[in-house]
Amino acid sequence: MYPYLISKSVNEGTMSYLFVINSESNPLESYMVRIQYTQGNLRASCSCKGFAIRGNCKHVKLALRKISRY
Ligand SMILES: [Zn+2]
Repeated sequence: MYPYLISKSVNEGTMSYLFVINSESNPLESYMVRIQYTQGNLRASCSCKGFAIRGNCKHVKLALRKISRY
């Protein structure tokens, strides 16, 4: 599972990141992770089922870890 940064943009103080992460269980599947930073507020979402159910998932964690290196 490796997060690919698809886009990064800054718009009126909001940083937006878009990642695609391949599924661990099904190589044909991939998930979109969207992360937005506005004045220290973080909003993240993922297109996987786990996120829809729990509001959190490992893809978001991976993407956040990746961002902290930029
Ligand atoms: Zn996910």
